[in-house]
Amino acid sequence: MADPISNITIVGGGTAGWMTAMLMNAMFRGEGGKSRMGITLIESPNVPTVGVGEATVPGMPRVLKTCGVSEREFFKACNASFKLGVMFQKWNVDRNGDFIDYVNPFGRPGYVAGVDLAYYYLREGAGGLEFAQTYAPALDLIRAGKGPRPLGQPEFSGEAGYAYHLDAGRFAGLMRDISKDRGVVHILDDVVDVTRDGETGNIASLVLQERGEHPVELVIDCTGFRGLLINKVLEEPFIPYSKYLANDRALAVQIPHEGEVKVDCATRSTALGAGWSWRVPLFNRVGTGYVFSSSHRTDEEAMTEFLGHLGPEGEGLEPRVIPMRVGRSRNLWVKNCVAIGLSGGFIEPLESTAIHMIDTSIRWLFTYFPDTDFAPVLRDSYNRLTGNLYDEVRDFICLHYALGNRTDSQYWIDARTELEVPDSLARNLELWQHVLPGAYDIEFQTLFPFTVYQAVMLGKRVYETGYGKERIGQNFVTRGEYWRTHLGRMRASIEGMVANAADHTTLLRDL
Ligand code: FAD
Repeated sequence: MADPISNITIVGGGTAGWMTAMLMNAMFRGEGGKSRMGITLIESPNVPTVGVGEATVPGMPRVLKTCGVSEREFFKACNASFKLGVMFQKWNVDRNGDFIDYVNPFGRPGYVAGVDLAYYYLREGAGGLEFAQTYAPALDLIRAGKGPRPLGQPEFSGEAGYAYHLDAGRFAGLMRDISKDRGVVHILDDVVDVTRDGETGNIASLVLQERGEHPVELVIDCTGFRGLLINKVLEEPFIPYSKYLANDRALAVQIPHEGEVKVDCATRSTALGAGWSWRVPLFNRVGTGYVFSSSHRTDEEAMTEFLGHLGPEGEGLEPRVIPMRVGRSRNLWVKNCVAIGLSGGFIEPLESTAIHMIDTSIRWLFTYFPDTDFAPVLRDSYNRLTGNLYDEVRDFICLHYALGNRTDSQYWIDARTELEVPDSLARNLELWQHVLPGAYDIEFQTLFPFTVYQAVMLGKRVYETGYGKERIGQNFVTRGEYWRTHLGRMRASIEGMVANAADHTTLLRDL
């Protein structure tokens, strides 16, 4: 029997490094609240973190709960706000050439009399309501500036599904303080080299600039885009997604609120000439940026376009440029090293998935945690899941481009005609010209089930603007009276929720 691993060494002190430290510490907590696992985090004092990554998905409350962090503590420390969905602006045009805006909410359309709600919406219409408004309160709450619950309700409750916006630097600081308080050892030093075990090829020790050799059992590479251990030392190939996704650079800047403002409770994504601009509202500022394709814009051109998009609030700002390595390592666990965060891979942040992928990877690593013999079956299982997760997110992001219909710039034309569509998505795009996305169409659905595909496709109104068959799903019998009853009940329930929910900014002040 191999000995159990008793020490984890994490290299990197960004969101990925500190989340790994905090969650692993919590998950290995035994009796008396003490962690059974020794955890050390080594962070370079010279290499800054990427400093962006501020919108999340609804898995985030679970992270706080696992680690025993209250919402009050989190909101205060991270200037956080609630996020009820993503508002997509100008991604598609209708038959008249006017821009279509839509929301991707948290929440799933169910069934009406046993038939997918989406078929009812498509066939019967909803009197000008967006698809999302027929099953989720997000858009109505966002328009009313309301949060997910009334004042005075318990933490982590909400009638509307929600996630958070957070200050990335402060979030890493909060996780660092919690981890260190609970026994995680923090070393500020640069990893400059490694030694390898002659027999297994495992990383035996890290060589630190100041402290010299630091022996390791299991090492987690959280070194960001450089992939120091997984790609540089262990030479695991990186699989670029550039043939599927054109965007490879970003501009990023922060805009402090001036005076009293009402804090928005949605992430906004606005399509621009060669990519899209994000807008993440925090309690004290907005984080915004432009994700773009360097084949279509130089940095200077993108800067001019982005500042023009911001208008007066952009005056005097100097956004920084962030090159993005888009794709993933072929395997994310190699020998005794697991890459988590940007070192493992990255897909543009259109659906705010990276922090969720960090959280999920940590939980899967815990599930398949090895002993010192590193049984290959554990590693293979982990690699299968994490590889599939990256591909799942890639496919969903590709959907947004494949079904875009703008023709007003070369970028949007190329997004449809020059970029490849991954086989897994191409098969479904052919299928969904005949039927709406269904429960068994997508092989790997951990984060983006078929219902979210429905939300995006009906949000973009692709079936009204030339994609697919006119009378799609004609075999299903939809009955007008069932639909009217559903809509009546749903709208009454949503209107009640909106009336009861607290003003978002007031809720944040209360927290
Ligand atoms: P980093 O933050 O780059 O940290 C790397 C760490 O490694 C640093 O501490 C550094 O000091 C250390 N290091 C490097 N070399 C060494 C060395 N030799 N020795 C010791 N230490 C070393 N995610 C979301 O979930 N939502 C979003 O809305 C979102 N938006 C994004 C927007 C953009 C433009 C980009 C680029 C990313 C976005 N992300 C988003 C992703 C998110 O920012 C990252 O997933 C997250 O910040 C994790 O980064 P990281 O910790 O892997 O890397």
